[in-house]
Amino acid sequence: MTTALATILEKLRLAETAAGRAPGSVHLIAVSKVQPLERVVAVLKDGHRLFGENYVQEAQGKWPDLRAEFGPVAVHMIGPLQTNKAKVAVELFDAIHSLDRPSLADKLASLAQSRGTSPDLFVQVNTGEEPQKAGILPADLDAFVADCRRRDLPLVGLMCIPPESEDATPHFHMLAAMAARNGLTGLSMGMSSDFPAAIAAGATHVRVGSALFGARDYGTR
Ligand SMILES: *Cc1c(COP(=O)(O)O)cnc(C)c1O
Repeated sequence: MTTALATILEKLRLAETAAGRAPGSVHLIAVSKVQPLERVVAVLKDGHRLFGENYVQEAQGKWPDLRAEFGPVAVHMIGPLQTNKAKVAVELFDAIHSLDRPSLADKLASLAQSRGTSPDLFVQVNTGEEPQKAGILPADLDAFVADCRRRDLPLVGLMCIPPESEDATPHFHMLAAMAARNGLTGLSMGMSSDFPAAIAAGATHVRVGSALFGARDYGTR
């Protein structure tokens, strides 16, 4: 097994135990966006089968071939999703963590209706209320969740990306409280720098990229 994957899995298990969580209750999403194919293949060869992507087009160019070679692999969309890419996204991804606006809920509901199935959905919450960041504002969340349920969308949880300049832990706790009061059990939170803290706060899905694959080089895309 690659050293990085072994190290992350060990930290994840330690964090689960420390938090009194059941072993295996936290899913590691290996965030493979922008990574060279050989790094992704190495982690697949180690047996890992859950990945995260940010860009529909990049994922479309990668995962059909990798799934043909390695068999079933769960791939979750964690980046902003343009409405005009939603159709391709629902065909490609097993879950979407970036349901962040009513117009996307509309689109996903109509796709679910016509296809008779939908990826699992996480609502992205802008816990830091940052103007430049996507996500439903905390004050609007309960109404948005109710609206998604009226449309029969398969909501499984909430997702957040805390402000870079702040301690993430209060944001993780805020997200956990919002999920609990809405009867949602999935919590997609925690990245390379803070996933143990997210697990302590109840994360069910941590999204780890650079700590697992190495730094991303956006220059060579
Ligand atoms: C890129 C990305 C990650 C992974 O970030 P790292 O710091 O490399 O672990 C996690 N979540 C989202 C939404 C991302 O866009």
